[in-house]
Amino acid sequence: MKKTLLLLSLVAAPALAGEGKWTPQQVLELSPAWLKAQGLQLPPSKLWDPKRGTGLLAGTVNTGGCSGSFISASGLIITNHHCAFSIIQEHSSPQKDLITDGFLAKRPGDELPGKGSRVQVPRGFKDVTADINGAVPVGADDLARYKAIDRKQKELVAECEKRPATRCQVATFDGGVNYTLVDAVELQDVRLVYAPPRAVGEYGGEEDNWSWPRHTGDFSIIRAYTAPDGSSAPYSEKNVPYKAEFFFPLSTQGVKPGDFVMVLGYPGTTYRTLLAEEMAERQARYYPRVRDALGEAIRLLEAEGEKDPAGKIAVASQLKSLHNVYKNAGGQLEGLQRGRIVEKQRETEASVVAWAQKGGAKWNDALKAREDLLAEQQAASKTFERDFLLGLSGRLARGPALATSVARLSMERAKPDLERRPEYMDRELPRIKDRLEREQKNLFIAADKALLHAFVKRAQALKPDERIAAVDTHFGKTYVEKDVTAKIDSLYAGTKVLTQSERMKMADESPAQLAARKDPLLAFGLDLAKEQAALDDTKDRRQGAASRLRPAWRKAVMAQAGKPVAPDANSTLRVSFAKVQGYAPRDGAVYLPQTTLTGMLQKHSGEEPFNAPAKVRATAEAKKFGPWVDPRLKDVPVDFLSDADTTGGNSGSPTVNGKGELVGVNFDRVWENVANDFGYNPDVARNVNVDVRYLLWQLDQVENADALLRELNIRKSSSPVVKEAR
Ligand code: ASP
Repeated sequence: MKKTLLLLSLVAAPALAGEGKWTPQQVLELSPAWLKAQGLQLPPSKLWDPKRGTGLLAGTVNTGGCSGSFISASGLIITNHHCAFSIIQEHSSPQKDLITDGFLAKRPGDELPGKGSRVQVPRGFKDVTADINGAVPVGADDLARYKAIDRKQKELVAECEKRPATRCQVATFDGGVNYTLVDAVELQDVRLVYAPPRAVGEYGGEEDNWSWPRHTGDFSIIRAYTAPDGSSAPYSEKNVPYKAEFFFPLSTQGVKPGDFVMVLGYPGTTYRTLLAEEMAERQARYYPRVRDALGEAIRLLEAEGEKDPAGKIAVASQLKSLHNVYKNAGGQLEGLQRGRIVEKQRETEASVVAWAQKGGAKWNDALKAREDLLAEQQAASKTFERDFLLGLSGRLARGPALATSVARLSMERAKPDLERRPEYMDRELPRIKDRLEREQKNLFIAADKALLHAFVKRAQALKPDERIAAVDTHFGKTYVEKDVTAKIDSLYAGTKVLTQSERMKMADESPAQLAARKDPLLAFGLDLAKEQAALDDTKDRRQGAASRLRPAWRKAVMAQAGKPVAPDANSTLRVSFAKVQGYAPRDGAVYLPQTTLTGMLQKHSGEEPFNAPAKVRATAEAKKFGPWVDPRLKDVPVDFLSDADTTGGNSGSPTVNGKGELVGVNFDRVWENVANDFGYNPDVARNVNVDVRYLLWQLDQVENADALLRELNIRKSSSPVVKEAR
């Protein structure tokens, strides 16, 4: 009997402690004894109550591309500085530069609303795999299959969103092994409460990004508001702070090496379930092209920004995200190579194939599915260069991006709602319009023209069978520098797409009305949009094929593994169980898991990106540590490492201790761990967190943020609560 129990609990424990971005439902399938042994002091049912479909994990919110978490019952949310950057930028100008100076609302009335900022609070998860699979007609080809799945998803979402202020989504796990309906409440009034100066929030900048040791205070605090009756509502002066059912109180004790932590959040996309050949293409072509094209875009934006301070602010946000993706691509390439990840995947795949072959007819479908997936990939790779570039046309230069957005919106709106691409359905209109309006702040014409020029030049160099017709039509087939310059000048001179009020009108017009405007940039946008739409149709068919093939193959992989396997990230709520620990980045070197204020000062050079603000330096140099000193380090801790399994989208994730208290905020991974998107390696799997005590030190000793500290229950009277240190 005892033996059986032991076996069962071993089965329910993952092979590697830190590996796995577990879904809330899976947490309940993991062995409670294993979780307790890791350091979880709460019963797992506190984390997730399957009956209510909620629990402490639901204190983690999705801020749209990032994660965040409630830290008070009155709607305060902590996230990263880089995640709240667009609100900070929105309220910045050369005269009142919140990016440089930071911001602290002295009273709630001073908090700054973020145009279009929203947060989603999870409310429930429902397995809808049977509904989705049941919707596919017998004998459907891949496109019909895609369309049937797409339609069913939209119907489920529409039904779910009948309740007010509700956002739902059908999330696909591992290409279709499971489908889950995610139900969330969307809060539409989000305001900035606190952001440190950029030189704290981004200390070390790009130089330190994706690396360790780190001294970055990548945190900011926002607050969600609702209508006085508690319902979600857009910004209004009458709104009141959101009442959070679940939140993570701040731990004043922080962490020490070896401590158990959990990282909760919304990891975006990972690729561990790809076939080795699919991974190989990302290594051989995708990331090198990202490096090349984005590297060029960065150089152009920086060069133009040097000539124009207002332009520099306008592109600050775009430049920041380009840098992030660019450096990430470098890390993926290095990590894929160093970790021999593709080779290892080949070996794993070969062992599954051998195992399935021995298993007899049962696994024939799985083996055939793998072959067919490989054939699909080979077919897709024939137009890789063109498809990659066409994908960039909506991402780099804002002019054509806005023109194509308006054009695609109008093309899609001509169709019934349920037949449109999901991103252009009526439910998305408020977001699209917010974005179209907000983009005005990001326009910097000189830089934009340079980006478009670079794009056209690349497109004109494509091989004859991979042309982008819109470029050929509007710019000609061969690159002649002065002609491209002249043509771009005339597009920008003759367009109204870049005029906010006109653009907003365009958002409501039909394709015929748009064409009748005879706007040259819009005409280019309309043609590009048609090609983007055709490419999307091709991708839909491929996705239909993948939804048929990948689950069959994955079922064999999971059966062979014989242990719980966490699905690839797909922007749904996950939790990773981890330990605070350092690592050995290379032969002969060991990294400690914590950094300190003293280390931050040592890095200060007075030059960007190591130019700590004077008041921060003065407080640190005077060793005004307050109660935030770590007894072991004899210093205020700044950042720490743990071996949590994270990726992009986990930015702003709460890092909490075994009692559910917030000890840090995740903001990055180390260089050696960037390629963990393709496979978890316990030796280097380290995520980077900012220590909550660094935040508290800033608020208490540097900012004297009295009201905020009281609200966070840190200050009771006029002096900080000093708790006994461990
Ligand atoms: N820095 C990342 C982000 O921006 C987090 C990560 O990829 O680990 O989401």
